[in-house]
Amino acid sequence: MNILKGIAVSEGIVFGKLKAYKKVFFDAYSVKRFTEDLEAEILKFKNSKKLALEQLDELYNNALDDVGEEHAMIFNVHKMMIEDIDYSNSVINIINDEKANAEYAVWFTSREFEKKFESMDNEYMQQRAGDIRDISRRIINCMGNNSVNNKSSNDKKSLIIGCDDISPSELLELNGKYIKGFITMLGSKNSHTSILARSMKIPSVVSLGSQLKPEFEDCDVIIDGFAGVVYVSPDSTTVRRLKKKKELCDKQEELLSSFKGKEDVSIDGQKIRLSANVSHICDIKILKEVDASGIGLFRSEFIFMNRRNYPTEEEQFKIYKSIAKKMGDKHVVIRTLDVGADKRIDYFDMPKEVNPAMGYRGIRICLDRPEMFKTHIKAILRASAFGNIEIMFPMISSLDEILRTKEIIKECKLELDKQNLDYKKDIKIGIMIETPAAVFISDILAKEVDFFSIGTNDLVQYSLAVDRQNDKVNFMFNPQHRAILRMIKMVCENAKSAGIRVGICGEIAADERMTEVFLALGIDELSMSAPFILGIRRKVRETNVKLIKEQIISKL
Ligand code: PEP
Ligand code: MG
Repeated sequence: MNILKGIAVSEGIVFGKLKAYKKVFFDAYSVKRFTEDLEAEILKFKNSKKLALEQLDELYNNALDDVGEEHAMIFNVHKMMIEDIDYSNSVINIINDEKANAEYAVWFTSREFEKKFESMDNEYMQQRAGDIRDISRRIINCMGNNSVNNKSSNDKKSLIIGCDDISPSELLELNGKYIKGFITMLGSKNSHTSILARSMKIPSVVSLGSQLKPEFEDCDVIIDGFAGVVYVSPDSTTVRRLKKKKELCDKQEELLSSFKGKEDVSIDGQKIRLSANVSHICDIKILKEVDASGIGLFRSEFIFMNRRNYPTEEEQFKIYKSIAKKMGDKHVVIRTLDVGADKRIDYFDMPKEVNPAMGYRGIRICLDRPEMFKTHIKAILRASAFGNIEIMFPMISSLDEILRTKEIIKECKLELDKQNLDYKKDIKIGIMIETPAAVFISDILAKEVDFFSIGTNDLVQYSLAVDRQNDKVNFMFNPQHRAILRMIKMVCENAKSAGIRVGICGEIAADERMTEVFLALGIDELSMSAPFILGIRRKVRETNVKLIKEQIISKL
């Protein structure tokens, strides 16, 4: 048995076989291998094409359920490309003419087709070059070059995957459908991938470094997502012990379910709103199970991910509208696009930056691309006619940004009026307080908005100068640092003086050790990954705020 110790990012205990999720470096296939058995290479290509088409069928059907027809379409487009006769002929000709291996033939064909698309005048056609590369990579993976992607639907939810790192969009594509847990060499507790893993309830341990070895592939493993420990080829005593621990956790979950339907109120009657963070459409499904008071943070960027170009106003409108309708009169805070830093999207064509977390991200991109921003805002405004939608802006660091943003909202409203399209005239506007600058001018910002939501993930990163992505300094990422608590206190006081609502939507909102402090400070809303809500509800209902308030505040 090998025991690997890393960072626990998503709770839960899972047993399974470890599979390597190998990121295929596409250009590695540019090396030609000569072969005599041309028939075998052609058959390999044909079989992998068939498998790739099956995968795309499955991806299409899953996406249809999760994100609707508009987003699922991309998989049908990929199918059409794979079935293209010129593409297949090119691969087969290269195998025959050059006595080449199938991987090389696909790589070469892909490169030629990509060049053709890239040289076209039309921007839409130019973007198809990326699709050619995607389908070619998929076909090569299906030749046995990637054990995870080759899984058929029978393997659903059976895998534990191991790899160097996973990006948020890769996790979305794997979508929790194939995997029941993952472990990585890199990673940190507060990266967006980890946040997604928690909300998708996928037990995971990251930052294992060189402890995670390729020879562990196909070994039995147990992930203890509570302790951040992975057992490879566990002995029978460990299996028994972890099974017991899992049973206890399941019981605990059952116990928490008795808090469903109960009010979020302390012993002495102080109310607080416990809402959910939504980082993926799957999250909506579990909101009902835990009965969150609403959605305190809807990370709209996932709607922009895993596609080839910006979603249109109509596409966005349909998604926001369906969420607003599903939530009825419960509030839905849609945060406008916060890409950049670790959330990279190819078609945004963002520059390479030395310091992306402090660079071109969030509101900065939106204000720099007003047409895209207006499309986004108009879609949200239109959806507000169908439910209780509020709009929130990320990464604010100056008064000017919020004033410019409000001007743009005004323009959008005028345009909708002209088009006779309905929206909620008095829609509430809020901002994230996640930069130290916003904290220190929160008295001024409070006069311009209806609510604040404190984003401690970024606030900690920027205040303590600790990269939330960097596992080397992860031990310094401390949301309970006195500096952070004092900032939260300051923001609360400024919000209260201005008579506006203040919440927290960073990961610390789900930390039971902090619930008393937040109640003592008079926080109005805690928004977190849905699976944590019932635990925090229990804590709120066990707290007598009057008894602890003075002592807590005096210590800050
Ligand atoms: C935060 O920074 O605390 C936050 C909630 O936003 P995100 O994690 O999406 O950056
Ligand atoms: Mg943030």
